[in-house]
Amino acid sequence: MTYQTVNPFNNQLIKTYPDATDEDLENALARGHDLYKTWRKQEGPGDRPAQLRQVAKLFRQNEDTLAANLTLDMGKLVGEARAEVELCADIADYFADHAEELLAPVPLDNPAGKAYYVKQATGIVFMVEPWNFPYYQIMRVFAPNFILGNPMILKHASNVPGSAVAFQETVTEAGAPEGSLTNLFVNYDQVDRAIADPRVSGVALTGSERGGASVAKSAGANLKKSSMELGGNDVFIVLDDADWDLLKKVAPSARLMNAGQVCTSSKRFIVTENRYDDFVSLIVDAFSHAVLGDPSNPETTLAPMCMVSARDNLAKQVENAVAGGAKVVYGNKPYDSPGAFFTPTVLTDIDRDNPVYNQEMFGPVASIYKVANEDEAIELANDSSYGLGGVVFSSDTEHADALARRIETGMTFINGGWVTMPELPFGGIKNSGYGRELYSLGFDTFANEHLIFQH
Ligand code: NAP
Repeated sequence: MTYQTVNPFNNQLIKTYPDATDEDLENALARGHDLYKTWRKQEGPGDRPAQLRQVAKLFRQNEDTLAANLTLDMGKLVGEARAEVELCADIADYFADHAEELLAPVPLDNPAGKAYYVKQATGIVFMVEPWNFPYYQIMRVFAPNFILGNPMILKHASNVPGSAVAFQETVTEAGAPEGSLTNLFVNYDQVDRAIADPRVSGVALTGSERGGASVAKSAGANLKKSSMELGGNDVFIVLDDADWDLLKKVAPSARLMNAGQVCTSSKRFIVTENRYDDFVSLIVDAFSHAVLGDPSNPETTLAPMCMVSARDNLAKQVENAVAGGAKVVYGNKPYDSPGAFFTPTVLTDIDRDNPVYNQEMFGPVASIYKVANEDEAIELANDSSYGLGGVVFSSDTEHADALARRIETGMTFINGGWVTMPELPFGGIKNSGYGRELYSLGFDTFANEHLIFQH
């Protein structure tokens, strides 16, 4: 396993990072455990809310440099990179601001005695994170667990080591005690050993089904808590009465943001037959105006993918889709660059036997499906092994609300694209994983809800 920054814009190697040794891992576990014991002795969160506010402040202060790391590591557009840094600051502030209420004892009415439960730390939380939002993914786990008093060890994706280092440095600079967050360039065996270690209380993974299944297996074998935030094949349902002007603004970016590499990207557009042809034209028109280029140039609107191998995997999926009967109505053209560029592509006529029908396409490829009516739309939406997010577009908001509740996902958005913010829980069902991050639900994942009962 090699941790390297390779610039996705030109495929040039920037830096190789040294692997973590077993001794590094042992030191991180020992430091984290000592810190857990120290924090456990304190009443309440102590200085941690103030330190987390300082993390937020540093994220805002150092926005340009932190954003530049994202662009170099995984090719994110500079504007999107800045937005990610700001979102991280908001998440840190949210958990700092809500520390008191999140940690407040919860009284329990009962006929026999005085009872309450209190949320307490459980030990080191091991994080395994993906490259698509290198800071945001860490912050979703870091902010709540830091307030709770769970030290953390981070195994980040091997292609974003610069961002992993920058996040840890920010936490250190904010004055958080040593061991609060330790980034390690570990391999999969070391991850398994860490999960088995009694000082680790749980593991949070965001990533693919394959990675999630493997890490969840380790967690299960060791009876450790786990949360799994995995892939999605999210639907975007367009009904006859959808607001067209709004659709024009929302639908293309719901697919192309972050070069299409978002778990909650709208990947399957499901459109009623009356609007189908117009919708295909809308997407083709928008995709044809995408400006590919240097992600650090603010004029660029479509970034390269995160790495050349991811681009090649996506190309293979499109090839298989076409071999299985899909039509390319736009794109899928070579792009002359050593970088990881994939031209925005629109596929139609994917039937249930097509090999990509139930596959996540993690890049700028939109699949558009025609349905006769909304019941068919819901059936198609739910005919998926994934269940992360979805979108419904209809001018009848009450009806859209009712329809949204029929979709088998963890999150459904009405008349707008997917959004994430600290106040909203994030997570899915089916093979998109289990558990929730953000909001108070994300705070509870690795807490011991300790019952205290007085007879
Ligand atoms: P991935 O291959 O599963 O990698 C994610 C992380 O897991 C990386 O740090 C990876 O390390 C690690 N990993 C993979 N297999 C492992 C194993 N057996 N043991 C220990 N660590 C392991 O995922 P990806 O393809 O890079 O990321 C994209 C996927 O993440 C997509 O499916 C996307 O939808 C999903 N995602 C989900 C959410 C959500 O919140 N639901 C958010 C973002 C992304 P290496 O890099 O070293 O292999």
